[in-house]
Amino acid sequence: MEQLQKLARKNILELTPYSSARNEYSGHEARVFLDANENPYNSPINRYPDPLQRKLKAEFSKIKGVAPECMFLGNGSDEAIDLLYRIFCNPGIDNVIAIEPTYGMYKVCANINNVEYRPVPLNSHFQVDAAQLLAATNQYTKLIWICSPNNPTGNCINRETIIHLLENFGGIVVVDEAYSDFSSETPFRRHLSSYPNLVVLNTMSKAWGCAAIRLGMAFASEEIITFFNKVKYPYNVNQLTQNEALQMLNDVVQIEKWVNLILAERERMIDAFKLLPICQQTYPTEANFFLAKMTDANAIYQYLIDKGIVVRNRNSVTLCRDCLRITIGMKSENQELLAALRCYK
Ligand SMILES: *Cc1c(COP(=O)(O)O)cnc(C)c1O
Repeated sequence: MEQLQKLARKNILELTPYSSARNEYSGHEARVFLDANENPYNSPINRYPDPLQRKLKAEFSKIKGVAPECMFLGNGSDEAIDLLYRIFCNPGIDNVIAIEPTYGMYKVCANINNVEYRPVPLNSHFQVDAAQLLAATNQYTKLIWICSPNNPTGNCINRETIIHLLENFGGIVVVDEAYSDFSSETPFRRHLSSYPNLVVLNTMSKAWGCAAIRLGMAFASEEIITFFNKVKYPYNVNQLTQNEALQMLNDVVQIEKWVNLILAERERMIDAFKLLPICQQTYPTEANFFLAKMTDANAIYQYLIDKGIVVRNRNSVTLCRDCLRITIGMKSENQELLAALRCYK
């Protein structure tokens, strides 16, 4: 990879970050806080939260096997996605590569930041050659987005492909593992120490059942995380979110139970879909959803809406003609969907 100093935007390299009141004191056991213009009443939410979420990172570190210094926590993974553009990509000059189809936020954030987005289509097995991705790069390419398991296709991108990119691309390879808890593949965060250009995204929104609290994370070298910390809003993760996340971290066993329930239901649902006359094909999945090719996705989508059941219509997405993306719900919800589809005429 290129030197990180060369990859990052010059204005970010030279940036003096905001220094918050809570950042400037440390090391001593303080009792009286007269530094941040807070209201002394209304404890505990009168106080600004820890800008670096130290307690939460220490707990995550045990579970994820990543050092706290190599961890960024943000307002959903969406914050990490946006920050990657703002750290590395010069608007109007630099570009990024992504597989197509994939998670929509990479493109939206590229557009917001006025950064050229170069999609490289997957093949009919929803895979891509590293050589094709590299061929789409030029000297201005800063990031390659790899979502694995991929949304909306559900499959993992071949490991060898990702490793080839990590070893041969001069910029940053972002591996978004929002769904890795549902996958049998080894998560890429285990390889952080081998690849200085690797950024792995995780979220509490899926397997952890906490989409409402907005907590996403990026794992990367300490050097890259330093950039995240410079650019982020000082108090980007609020105290209520930090509290709730700490609570959840106490109950890892519950998460495992949920994941196992969802995996069993996933298998059952795919088997049931295969028997539906209106389902032409289901695609292999490593996530908590699957893609199903139907006879007429638009009509079936509307039929389900009329019954109060919402799935994701991916009909207009590249390679997903007539496909619905089905999230695995509770058994009762899945049964309701199946019952409705069996009555479709
Ligand atoms: C759902 C999802 C996320 C999660 O985003 P949050 O902002 O953390 O809720 C990230 N990446 C992908 C690919 C997703 O599908």
